[in-house]
Amino acid sequence: MGTYTSAEEVNNTYARLRDTFQSGKTKSVEWRKWQLKQLWWLVSDNKDRFLDALHKDCNRSAYESLVSEYTGILNEILYHLQNVDQWIKPRRPDDGSLPMTLLAGASLRPEPRGLVLIIGPWNFPVSLLLRPLVAAITAGCTAILKPSELTQASQACLVELVPQYLDTDAISIVTGGPGETTSLLQNKQFDLIFFTGSPAVGRLVAEAAAKHLTPVVLELGGQGPGIVTASADIDFAAKSIASTKYMNAGQSCLAVNHVLAHPSVAEQLVELLKFHFEAFAADGPDSMTAVINKKNFDRLKNSIEKSHGTVVYGGQADPDKLSIRPTILTDLTPNDPILSSEIFGPICPILITTTEDAIRSINSTHCQLTVITSTTSGGVTVNDTLVHAAVLGAPFGGIGESGYGTYHGAYGFKAFSHMRTIANTTGLIRSLFGVRYPPYSKKDPNR
Ligand code: NAD
Repeated sequence: MGTYTSAEEVNNTYARLRDTFQSGKTKSVEWRKWQLKQLWWLVSDNKDRFLDALHKDCNRSAYESLVSEYTGILNEILYHLQNVDQWIKPRRPDDGSLPMTLLAGASLRPEPRGLVLIIGPWNFPVSLLLRPLVAAITAGCTAILKPSELTQASQACLVELVPQYLDTDAISIVTGGPGETTSLLQNKQFDLIFFTGSPAVGRLVAEAAAKHLTPVVLELGGQGPGIVTASADIDFAAKSIASTKYMNAGQSCLAVNHVLAHPSVAEQLVELLKFHFEAFAADGPDSMTAVINKKNFDRLKNSIEKSHGTVVYGGQADPDKLSIRPTILTDLTPNDPILSSEIFGPICPILITTTEDAIRSINSTHCQLTVITSTTSGGVTVNDTLVHAAVLGAPFGGIGESGYGTYHGAYGFKAFSHMRTIANTTGLIRSLFGVRYPPYSKKDPNR
């Protein structure tokens, strides 16, 4: 591991960013647009450096990084630049309360939360740090970024480039592992913590935040299954599912965790999954992204070994390259251990089940109606995978074990803003509000 930011440096950074927020500098729309543009240049000017770093961190191809993380950051910045003027405007409360709104001279003003902490994971180490930062800037916050210590090359790029391009009085990056992050969370009070990572660490973050009553957005892990019904386009379903297991070697919170396949199509689905995994590997077996580290490599190997299912495809694992071939497991029973955890790797377990039983297994409750009305999730894609997360204007975030709070587009702006209600009464109206003044005995008609 590289060297981490010293405690003294963290203290100085924290104090500097607090002062900047107090000064009001980050609240002007000019500052917000300037920093959004600077962030755009940071990302665009250094495209090749970032893509090389991501390749170094996890053997991910440049094209895959472009599609899965890079363009998303640029699109997010553009979307915020287009909309910031509109989003920051004060507005009236709902029309339903118009008489009171007029009497109270009421307006709602989105204000920045303050100094925020953004903690990122390793699986998309640039975009999952910078996309929340886009929203923090648009909202007018100052921000400390804490990247994952597991992706050292991309962390080094960010550590060098953030101060070169962005306003160092308002946006800073600090580095550290679990110990340093714990002490940051416990010793410093933030106005919002935006955390992307595992549910286990998310709980620790929420606990530490509770000490300071700090609001938290938690973007956590998921176990979203893919349901393949009898009427599905099986070839397309297989291709789409296989791609989520192939991209980033399945190390994505949006990857299909396991497949619940209708008995009438399961056999065909397995054959087509094999076909698409073969086709995806046309550039050679080592073209797939590697598993991030030995710990996760061992975890994934163990989960294949501990499963009672049959490996019908793949299964080869190379500890030197930290690579695991896409692996299909069948002959599973509903209580197989591999179905109850977040896999986060290129393993594709298939449970054969009717759609009704699939819904029951998702909910562990009685099912009725359709999949969407009978289940709960942060988002859902029908007839494909992942696509719901690509809609810029739609909220992105989990529910239950997958966390709380949302971002992307205006939802990110809202996450980093506080909607402040402002009332401003005038002379005549003030007398109407006089009903509240004691003594009450003279005012109560029942007395
Ligand atoms: P992680 O929880 O191990 O680490 C995330 C961050 O927390 C890192 O910056 C790390 O340094 C820090 N951290 C680790 N241990 C800590 C501790 N004890 N105390 C304080 N901080 C600590 O997660 P990860 O392994 O980097 O990422 C994988 C997880 O993230 C998966 O569960 C995945 O589903 C989830 N994820 C969710 C989303 C989403 O948008 N919902 C996106 C990507 C990843």
